[in-house]
Amino acid sequence: MRILITGGAGFIGSHLCDRLLDDGHEVIAMDNLSTGTVDNIAHLAGHERFHFIKHDVTHYIYVEGPLDAVFHLASLPSPVDYLNLPIQTLKVGALGTHKTLGLALAKGARYLLASTSEVYGDPLVHPQTEDYWGNVNPVGPRGVYDESKRFAEALTMAYHKYHGVDTRIVRIFNTYGPRMRMDDGRVVPNFVCQALRGDPLTVYDDGSRTRGFCYVSDLVGGMIELLHADEVTPVNLGNPEEMSIIDFAHKVKELTGSDSSITFVTPTDERTKDDPKVRCPDISKARRVLDWEPRVSLDEGLQHTIAYFKKKV
Ligand code: UDP
Repeated sequence: MRILITGGAGFIGSHLCDRLLDDGHEVIAMDNLSTGTVDNIAHLAGHERFHFIKHDVTHYIYVEGPLDAVFHLASLPSPVDYLNLPIQTLKVGALGTHKTLGLALAKGARYLLASTSEVYGDPLVHPQTEDYWGNVNPVGPRGVYDESKRFAEALTMAYHKYHGVDTRIVRIFNTYGPRMRMDDGRVVPNFVCQALRGDPLTVYDDGSRTRGFCYVSDLVGGMIELLHADEVTPVNLGNPEEMSIIDFAHKVKELTGSDSSITFVTPTDERTKDDPKVRCPDISKARRVLDWEPRVSLDEGLQHTIAYFKKKV
């Protein structure tokens, strides 16, 4: 297949490029490099089936030749990034999704939207099933990301229903692994880098919020399964092993062998406003329609991630 990946120089996008190239496909990575980096795809330079186009997907997209599939991953998924760039976040979710769907329609390509567990907001149903409509504050700090993805899902379904585009929607829960940005502000790079430097681990508020952490290779495998499956409605992909952030801090300390302290901080900016108190994917649907579940344990995934960040700090 000839496949376009928007956000192809990002954390998840670059792993998807690797996997699809390994599977024998031709891959075009598109990225405006606002948060993605060529370092993530530098090893692919010169690969005969890999191409890179630097482009902002909120503008008209031109791709020469046929396309069999489009993965739309371009986005600003880190709370720090979408708080800094709220309008760009809304534009890439809305205009970028519109442009990429238009491209898929024109090329007759299958389309996969990378959506998010953030569509569930601060959830009142736990664990989150795909039929839960969510609890999102549209005017809160997270609203720019959450609403852009909710709009993106609605637009994807509209292109499916009215234009017959063969679409897929994946709701991605917290994912981690090598190539996360050290400064993207999320808990995995923060804690791992803090632990490696011997700095205190910054647990926000009381550390009781929960997340499950999915290793990137598991996620990417599930996304490819979904592209090939016959399932138009959204599918959760994530790791249902839920843990509190304070427990996660202890886990990172244990695996890095760090003697960093753990400090409880209350951020003065808006980053923890509307921060979901709990989050855990119900993955029954992924198990049923994709025969998918995470295989990489937290210990193993974190070891790979720690090894990656060791070279960076
Ligand atoms: N968090 C934390 N310390 C940090 C970074 C994040 O305690 O240095 C918390 C954050 O408040 C949230 C959880 O860790 O409750 C996961 O945050 P992240 O930004 O990784 O992803 P989110 O799930 O909020 O999108």
